[in-house]
Amino acid sequence: MSIPHYAVLGHPVVHSLSPRIHAAFAQQTDIALTYLALDTEEAGLAATLARFAAAGGLGANVTVPDKSEAAGIAQVLSPRARRAGVANTLTLRDGVWHGDNTDGSGLVRDLRERRGLDVHDMRVLLLGAGGAAQGVAPALLEAGIGQLVVANRTRSRAYDLIDRLNDPARTRACTLREIAGLGDFDMIVQATSAGHDGLLPAVPDLTPNAETVCIDLNYGRAAVAFLAWAHQHGVQHAFDGMGMLVEQAADAFEIWHGERPYTEPVYVQLRLSAGRD
Ligand code: NDP
Repeated sequence: MSIPHYAVLGHPVVHSLSPRIHAAFAQQTDIALTYLALDTEEAGLAATLARFAAAGGLGANVTVPDKSEAAGIAQVLSPRARRAGVANTLTLRDGVWHGDNTDGSGLVRDLRERRGLDVHDMRVLLLGAGGAAQGVAPALLEAGIGQLVVANRTRSRAYDLIDRLNDPARTRACTLREIAGLGDFDMIVQATSAGHDGLLPAVPDLTPNAETVCIDLNYGRAAVAFLAWAHQHGVQHAFDGMGMLVEQAADAFEIWHGERPYTEPVYVQLRLSAGRD
C-alpha cells in the first residue's frame, strides 16, 4: 500500500513549520505519511491542489494567501469554516474536498490549555481582518468572550468580518485609527501581517496595561515588534503564535487520522530550535 500524502499549500511555504510538525505527530502516533510544502504562486491553489490529489494527496493545510479560495473550492464546509468564510484544512473524502478551519480552535486551545487563561467575558481587540482574523473571530465568540472589536487598516474588511459574524450585540468594527477612545481591553490579538516587515500596525493611543493579555498570531521575527511593544508597556502575559500553530496542526491531524497527538513535546522542540536560530 502506498504512503498517503499530505501537504501545506500557499505562498510562501518554503519556511513553513507544518512539515516538521506533522512529521513529529506522525512519529509520535506511529502513522506512516509524507507531508510536503507546495508553493501555489505559479499555478494557483486550484491547479496545485488538483495535481496534488492526482498524485495521491489526501489532505492539505492551506495558508496565506489561499484560505478564502480554499473555502470556495471545498464542496462541503464545516459549520465553523462556513462561519469564518475561510478554510485552512482540506480533506479529500470519496473524491470530494471537505473544508474546515482549525485556526480558531487552535488559538482557543493555546490560550486555555497552554496559557491557563479564562477568556470568558473578556473584552477583546482583534487587529486585522484577513484570513487569520476571520478564522479566530468566530472561535473567540464561541469561547464566550464578552465583546469583540475588529480593527483593520482597510475599513471595509473589518465591517465585512463583523457582518459575517452576525453577532451585533457583542461585535463592532473600526479602523486602526478609531481604536482611540474605545477604552481598555482585556486581550489584544495581533492578527495582521505587519510584523513580516518588522512593523507594528499603526495603532495610535492604544496602551495595554500590565494585566492585558497580548498575543501575536505571528511567531519568530514577525512577532518581535508587537511583543517588544507589549513588554515596553509592562504586559505580563505576552505570547507569540507558535502555540496556536501547533494546536491548529493537531486539530488538522486529528481530522485526517482520527487520533489526537500530544502537542506539548512538539511545541517545546520548536521553541528550543527557534532559540537556536
Ligand atoms: P492576510 O494577508 O489574509 O491579511 C493580512 C492582514 O494584515 C490584513 O488585515 C491587512 O490589512 C493587515 N496588514 C498587513 N500589513 C499591515 C500593516 N502594515 N499595518 C496594518 N495592517 C496590516 O493574512 P492572514 O490574515 O492569513 O495572516 C496574518 C498573519 O497571521 C500572518 O503573518 C500569518 O503568518 C499569521 N498566522 C499565524 C497562524 C498561526 O497558526 N500562528 C495561523 C494563521 C496566520 P488590510 O486588510 O488593510 O490589507
